[in-house]
Amino acid sequence: MNEIQAAQKEFGILDRVPEGVCVLREDSSVLFWNRCLEDWTGISRSEILLKDIGVYFPHLHQPKYAHRLKQIFEGGPPTIFSSQLHKSIIPAQMADGRWRIQHTTVTAVPAPDFRFSSLLSRACECDFRLGNAACESDIVESHQQLNNPKSFYALFVIEDVTDLTYRIQDYRAMRDRALEEIKERTKVEEALRESQHFIQKIADATPCLIYIYDLIEGRNIYINRQVDLLLGYTAEEIQQMGSQLFPNLMYPEDLWQVSAHQEKFTTAQDGDIFEREYRIEHRSGEWCWFHSREIVFARTAEGLPKQILGTAQDITKRKWTEEAMRLQTERERLMGVITQHIRQSLDLSEVLNTAVTQVRQFLGTDRAIIFRFIPNTHKDSNIVKIGNVTVESLASNCTSILGANIPDCCLRDGNFSYYQQGNIRAIEDVSTAANFPNCHIELLRKWGVKANLEVPILQGEQLWGLLMVQQCGTVRAWQPLEIELMKHLANQLAIAIQQAELYQQLQAANEQLQRLASSDGLTHIANRRKFDEYLLQQLLILARDKQPLSLILCDIDFFKSYNDTYGHQAGDECLRLVAKAIQRAVKRPADLVARYGGEEFAVILPNTDLKGALRVAKEIQIRVKDLQIPHFASEVSDCITLSAGVACLIPTADISPKELIAGADRALYQAKNLGRDRIVMCSESSCLSQV
Ligand code: GH3
Ligand code: MG
Ligand code: MG
Repeated sequence: MNEIQAAQKEFGILDRVPEGVCVLREDSSVLFWNRCLEDWTGISRSEILLKDIGVYFPHLHQPKYAHRLKQIFEGGPPTIFSSQLHKSIIPAQMADGRWRIQHTTVTAVPAPDFRFSSLLSRACECDFRLGNAACESDIVESHQQLNNPKSFYALFVIEDVTDLTYRIQDYRAMRDRALEEIKERTKVEEALRESQHFIQKIADATPCLIYIYDLIEGRNIYINRQVDLLLGYTAEEIQQMGSQLFPNLMYPEDLWQVSAHQEKFTTAQDGDIFEREYRIEHRSGEWCWFHSREIVFARTAEGLPKQILGTAQDITKRKWTEEAMRLQTERERLMGVITQHIRQSLDLSEVLNTAVTQVRQFLGTDRAIIFRFIPNTHKDSNIVKIGNVTVESLASNCTSILGANIPDCCLRDGNFSYYQQGNIRAIEDVSTAANFPNCHIELLRKWGVKANLEVPILQGEQLWGLLMVQQCGTVRAWQPLEIELMKHLANQLAIAIQQAELYQQLQAANEQLQRLASSDGLTHIANRRKFDEYLLQQLLILARDKQPLSLILCDIDFFKSYNDTYGHQAGDECLRLVAKAIQRAVKRPADLVARYGGEEFAVILPNTDLKGALRVAKEIQIRVKDLQIPHFASEVSDCITLSAGVACLIPTADISPKELIAGADRALYQAKNLGRDRIVMCSESSCLSQV
């Protein structure tokens, strides 16, 4: 049995294992090559046996392998050729083209005993068959082997670890990926932590509220630290309020918008911003205005909005400014309207009536009155002031207090000077008012007043009166704007009153002036100027109406002699008496008696025909005679008499006053010529004497 056969016998059992097995002799020749290796490498056993393995796999002669194999052949410990490091110990390609990955263990196995018998048989073969030097050297070699009992084969056991390796590689790749992911996630988490810290810092430093509100849970789940500064509550306190957050802190009138506002989010797109303004109560009790901007922050799995992220800015100061400006504008508008109405008239009673009507209308009160003080002329110095309700404007639920006065007790003990200093009195509820004089409260009760607001009307330091607005049906909290309005109105009223009073005085002065300008200083009847004006005016009117106009001219008889006899003063007195007598003789308001000249009088009689005028002239003649003023120097009587000329015409557009005067003058002239103490009528054609 040769060495091959011996090896086959020894290792043949390894033909059946699913691992590659080969046995090398120390000279690197292959002694055993199992089926599995035949399959893997495609090299048949018959081909490779006794061949140097290096013929097929030259790398095995590289020093690194040679060195290790040498140790094996010397009986050294088994060596594992790591599949990882030595993929190609026995390279073998698989059907799919991949290279098989092997785990190779090389073990030293003692060479079997057959070597001695083999040596013998080989020696015999040499002897009998060859008998040559080669045989001789073989025998020497075999002999040397025999002398070296530590000769070993190298048994290669090659495990196919391709799948395992790939699985391990896959696993490693997975593990690496996982590790990479973990690293990445750690990095992201770190960055997130950093950015959260950063955001937290920003959130806490931002001078407005930043919050997250959970719509489904109905509570705040985050709010930045600014809440402490802006509302006086800690973030924890806000969160503890839960669903009571808004009922607790929001201004009742603004509460209604909460659900309507939240409703908007149901249809909101991501990024839609919703804004609103509302009031929140600070811990101190003060109301603060906020302007908030909110967006959807998180949604449920179904996509419904769950959380909203919002910022809220404190806009209290801006609101105050806006409110102040609004009030200012409103006050100015109201004042403008009321002042315009009041100033439309210069008539005092109209000014006062307009004021109470307007103020009641604007403030919507039940009653508005003006109480006017009358300067004290009472002898009793204990009575401070008197006066009464001069004008009032009333709703139907109030009784009139027009003409009512304020009892003296209400104006004593500094109460009057209280008003004089410009102070107002605003009483919300007369029934509970405690800080007001009893007398005053009693008076308001008597007047049926539930709430009262009064402001003084001052002209300089003088208290002219009081402007009061009153509620008869209900109590009323007077608003600052209303009080301001009343104050301003009282000031405007004071100016309007002063103007009206000045106007009244001016009016009176003008009338006086007018009277002086148109009346005769001695007799106080109309003067010549007035006569001329009136005659022209009546001529025009009656020309339009086609009605008659008569004129009587009277002249005292022998008046020069009267003056000469009784003196000039007596003459003046006589003129006064005659003027009065003539005045009494005319009856109609439209009739005008005027001093026409020295001792001449004229009487204009509109709508009076010649007959009527004659009757008036006769009445004059009788009345003058009835005066019985002695005139002994007269040539026609012992008393003062007069002569009169009467003219009448129906005016036309082309007739001037001169023509009527000329007619009357002509008649008067005739009366004188005819002997005096008589009346002559003058028609357009001729004059007719009437004694
Ligand atoms: P005859 O009957 O013709 O009218 O005579 P007579 O004297 O009245 O006439 P004449 O017109 O000449 O005189 C008018 C006088 O009236 C002259 C003047 O002294 C007098 N007289 C005119 N005006 C006044 C006046 O204001 N006061 C007084 N006392 N006398 C006056
Ligand atoms: Mg005369
Ligand atoms: Mg005369």
